[in-house]
Parts: sequence; C-alpha cells; structure tokens
Amino acid sequence: MTRAGMDDALLDVLHEYWGYAEFRPLQQEAMTAVLDDRDSLVVLPTGGGKSLCYQAPALCREGTAVVVSPLISLMKDQVDALRVCGISAACLNSSLDQEESRQVLRDVRAGKIKLLYVAPERLMLENMLCLLAEINLSYIVIDEAHCVSMWGHDFRPHYRELSELKTIFPQCGIHAYTATATEEVRSDIAVQLGLKTPEILIGSFDRPNLTYSVARRADRFNQVCTVLDRHPGEPGVIYCISRADVESLSESLNDSGYETRPYHAGLPDGERAANQEAFIQDRVDVIVATIAFGMGIDKPNVRYVIHAGLPKSLENYQQESGRAGRDGLEAECVLLYSEQDAMIWKRILEDQPDESKTSALQSLRAMQNYCHSFDCRHRYLMQHFGQDLEQDCETGCDLCRGDFQKVEDAQIIGQKILSSIFRQDQNFGASYTAAVLKGSKDKKVLANGHNNLSTYGLLKTESLSTIRNWINQLASQGYLTKTAEYQQLRITKTGRLLLKGEITPQLMRTTETGKSETNRSSK
Ligand code: ADP
Repeated sequence: MTRAGMDDALLDVLHEYWGYAEFRPLQQEAMTAVLDDRDSLVVLPTGGGKSLCYQAPALCREGTAVVVSPLISLMKDQVDALRVCGISAACLNSSLDQEESRQVLRDVRAGKIKLLYVAPERLMLENMLCLLAEINLSYIVIDEAHCVSMWGHDFRPHYRELSELKTIFPQCGIHAYTATATEEVRSDIAVQLGLKTPEILIGSFDRPNLTYSVARRADRFNQVCTVLDRHPGEPGVIYCISRADVESLSESLNDSGYETRPYHAGLPDGERAANQEAFIQDRVDVIVATIAFGMGIDKPNVRYVIHAGLPKSLENYQQESGRAGRDGLEAECVLLYSEQDAMIWKRILEDQPDESKTSALQSLRAMQNYCHSFDCRHRYLMQHFGQDLEQDCETGCDLCRGDFQKVEDAQIIGQKILSSIFRQDQNFGASYTAAVLKGSKDKKVLANGHNNLSTYGLLKTESLSTIRNWINQLASQGYLTKTAEYQQLRITKTGRLLLKGEITPQLMRTTETGKSETNRSSK
C-alpha cells in the first residue's frame, strides 16, 4: 500500500468504526509505524488517544493483533468498547471460565478475532506461544509498557518475561505504549523489549487546560471542602494514600452533605464496581479513592483531581492528575502534601528489593521537590519528562498566578536556619531544627542543651510549620540534604555559599487553602 493509500485507509477506518474525522497528534505516525511493521515506542499523555493508535491498524490488515495489558478491568473495558464499534475483539485472562477461554481460542484459530487482549503471564505460556506461532499474527502491542522497567513506577515482574517475544517472533512488529516515561524508563523499555531501531514517538506532556496548585496539608477536610465548593455538581476525584483514609474522608464528606463514594481494592468487588459505575454515569459527583482507581477509566468531564496525600512519584502524579480535563476543557489539580506522607512512602518502599528501592526513593524525592519548587508547575512537570515549555504558563499554576508571598529577607532567614543546623552538629531533622529556631521548650531540645545555642528562638515569631517548610524549600534548592536513614539535615557546598552571604535562596510563605473555613455543617 502507498503512504497516501495507507492514510486514506486509516482515516476510513477511523470514520467508519469510531466516527472520528481526524487524527490526534502523533496518532497517524504511530499507526503508520504499525502498518510498516516497524517496532515502535509511543509515549502519549493520558487521554492522548493511545488505544486508537494500535487498534485502527488491525482493521487495515489481515490477521490478529495481540495486545498485552496488565489489568483485567482494563482489558474488559477496551474489548467492550471495541465490540460496541462493531470490531471483533476478545480477551484471555483469569476472569474467563474454561469454556469461555476455549471459545476464544477457537475463534482466534479460526481467524475471527482482530484484536486479542492477553495478560502477560498468560501470553508467555507455552501453549499460547504455540498458538500465536500457528495463526496469522499481525503485530504485538505492549500497553502500559513502563511496567517492564524497574525504573518505572509500576514494575510488574510478568512484564519482564515479555523480553523473549522479540526472539520468539523476530518478524513481528512490537509496539510499546505508555503514558509516562522519563528518558531513563523510555530507553529501558526499548532495551528490555529488544525493540529493533524503533520509531520513537513522544507527545507533548503539557496539559494546558489543567491548572496545578500545591498546598501544605493543615486541615485536610476543610481544604478538600474548599475545592469541592468551587465545583458544585461537577465530577471530581479525590486520591488518598490508604484505604482507611479513603473510608474516613468519604464518610466525613457525606456526613457534611456532600455526596461521595469510596473506591479501593479492599471493597467487595460488587460495591467497588457499583461505585465506579455511579461516578462514570454521573450519578455521583465525587469519588474518593486510592490509586487503584483510574487506570483505563475514560471519563472525559472530570473537572478536578485532589490529591489529599502525596503521590509516590511525579509519574504517578502526572498520570492521576491527568485524569482531569480529558475533554480539553479547564480542570483543576490540587495537591495537599505533608512531609509525613513522604515518611509513610519511605516505610513502604523499604520493603522493595534494593535495585528498585533506589530509584523509587529518587522518584519520591522528585515528587517532594515538586512540592517545594518555585518553577512554573507546568514547566517543572514537562522538564521531568525531558521536555520544555517555551514560556511559563502565566495563569495555569499557583506559582505563576502569584498565590504565594515571597519572603523579602530570604538570605537572612536561610542563614539563620543553616547556622542552627551547623550548631546542632548537623545531627537533627527538620522538625527538631524548627523547634530550636522557634525557641520551643520541647524536652528533647532542653535535654540537648540546645536552648543555649545562639540560634535558639531566632525565628520565634514564625510558626513551626512555616519554619519546617522553609527548611524543606532550602533542601529542594540544594542548600541542604537529608540523610537517608534519619533525615538528618546536612549543609551542602551551596549551603556554605549561602552562609557566606554569596547567594540568596528563594523562600515563600505558603498558604493553606481553606484553613480559615471551618463551618461546613450548613451545606
Ligand atoms: P489514552 O489511552 O492515551 O489515555 P484513549 O485511547 O483512552 O487515551 O483516548 C482518550 C479519548 O480520546 C477516548 O475517549 C478516545 O475515544 C478519544 N479519541 C482518541 N483518538 C481520537 C480522535 N482521533 N478523534 C477523536 N477522539 C479521539
């Protein structure tokens, strides 16, 4: 087929089966790579239209395309959606009983299936590989391909086995798709899957219709309510770290007259599915969830995503917040963070094997730094994914909007903090240091005799949380580091320059959205 013929055929398919008139950015290039049998690695943000890239070409050629997908629910949704469009699709996973599985296999053998969704562990079984060798296999797609990389945020050991596919099916195009990949993860995906000179297509990570803001979490309930009150009757998602947090926040919101539903992996299947359905069908506005919610959910009109706890990486944040505003209309992403969340994550990550732990901790640090950064948040996110923004967003984030008050005497404050750390022999963490600078009568401070330090009470007019926050801001700007084990503050080379008065840090007074609003019972 000529290039022009190929484009026409793809557009016909888009129109006939999906009713779409044109390609979204990079879709045409991605589909062409598939039809050219050239391996590809496609990175498009959530909502960028990845599925169409590998579904449409299946209809332009003979044979069956195989799609590897990590979640049963995700496969089911995609297969259902394809069938609605009149496309013969099926899936093979542990949710099918024996007879259903056999029927799918018969259909595949008979060449009746255009797109077959398979779980990775199932695909790599001997009998499955034999079947694929017998049929007319048109190409293989690895969806959520970051799961293959230990550097990614969602490594799945079964994905690692997919590295054998290229050896088993050397003639078959392999196409890796993901919404989130740093440069490191990207090249790891290509190496792990053995992609041969792949076409690498990377979409823009900026989501100009999203506004980002970050606030220190002081009074979670009221901070969340403030955001909800900006969006009466509009759909939104609130993410919490733990199931217990999901339950308690959902309950207290309901008690105050909001209508929310919880979603986490610990709920009975029926209840979880019903809550998700109610949200998708606009019967309930707010879903309070752990990160178990969202993968594969295509709800275009989510107007806000609130993170009531710190995500464990910017990859997670980008993906979860990216569920807002898929329809291209304005939507809001609010992150409420607390340093305690970082400690919780660290405890969880401790149990990982060493090789993935190091990168997980790095990802967590990048997430923390985002919270304390003073760069345009759109730019910060894009730079994390190896891209840049021509100019700051101006109104698309709290920092560009000027929601924060810059501290005028930042150099002096920074020096006071660093001097105290120095005088404490660099053996203590942020909370303790804040207590010394505040002039606290804390037992530990007194026992250590730090009430006699010249820095004791130097910042007594500031709140403990403000001082702690400044310490974190100094850390994110490289004036300080924290030791891995005990979070002891250590002064860096840059920190010493600050002590000498040669440079000035940026310090901000952060606000705590909604803190002053306490009376909610009237809603
Ligand atoms: P992703 O998997 O990248 O998050 P999806 O494949 O779920 O994105 O697509 C997001 C939404 O955009 C879906 O509702 C999809 O039907 C729609 N979409 C994809 N491609 C097009 C297109 N070319 N024209 C119009 N809508 C599209």
